[in-house]
Amino acid sequence: MRTEAQIKADIVEVGRRLWERGYVASNDGNISVRLDDSRLITTPKSVSKGFMTPDMMVVTDLNGKKLSGDRDPSSELKMHLQVYRDRPDARAVVHAHPPTATGFAVAGIPLDRAVLAEVVTTLGSIPIAEYATPSTDELPIACSKYLKAHDGLLLANHGALAIGPDLFTAYHRMETIEHFAKISLVTRQLGRENLLSRQEVVRLQGLRGMYGIASPAPVCTDDTIVMDADGQVACQVVQAPDAPTGARLVADLHQRSRVGAVMGGADARVLHDGDGEIRLTYRELTALIEDAVRNLK
Ligand SMILES: [Zn+2]
Repeated sequence: MRTEAQIKADIVEVGRRLWERGYVASNDGNISVRLDDSRLITTPKSVSKGFMTPDMMVVTDLNGKKLSGDRDPSSELKMHLQVYRDRPDARAVVHAHPPTATGFAVAGIPLDRAVLAEVVTTLGSIPIAEYATPSTDELPIACSKYLKAHDGLLLANHGALAIGPDLFTAYHRMETIEHFAKISLVTRQLGRENLLSRQEVVRLQGLRGMYGIASPAPVCTDDTIVMDADGQVACQVVQAPDAPTGARLVADLHQRSRVGAVMGGADARVLHDGDGEIRLTYRELTALIEDAVRNLK
């Protein structure tokens, strides 16, 4: 059990890492840690997370009322309080604006495709909480829908949120979210994204138990969201194609159908399809032209 002084020093260190990695600019971002059953330690408003000192920290109750500290807590503390209400297992929350993950949040693209085995096994999927004005009561409500089933969220047109049983786990989840976003972006720039099959996703989910990886909810049985009686998401949507052949990797279905639509013929061999670019051998191109000429006659 870490002391209050140790937790304050840990928050300073995590803030420094967030700033150093460019996950926050200016005074963005906020961090909180549950001190005991009724109190939190949190970052103050209007300071750069890269240059905090332990004496800046604020202690509040679970309603956000300040109990001690010279400064005031961040206005985004409401979002943290919602996490602690929805997730009794949560002991730390990290909020930042990492550029690539936030780019996905702005584009409205959730990080929910079965691409990396490690991410499927640990975080599962990272959905996007609907847009809400920062620091208002709307934002905790928008997050709440996804909090029971996820340890990482994107916030539409805003940033990302990571939850953990301790501060460094929550921070490392933030790193994973941004790293996953960077890899997903590169993959899409390359124009092709092979996915883990649904069967492989089920196999990876089985590893959670074997390696003692705690996950707040199982992966949804298909890519359809399931809600619980409280209107909160009850499973993790992971986009993974079915592979009755037992294949562990499946070529991107979207890409394949796009190629099929362009090519038309079943025997045409497509070497590459990136951003609509298709490369054919000379022989295949000649065959296509001959085919087109025949159709004109
Ligand atoms: Zn923010």
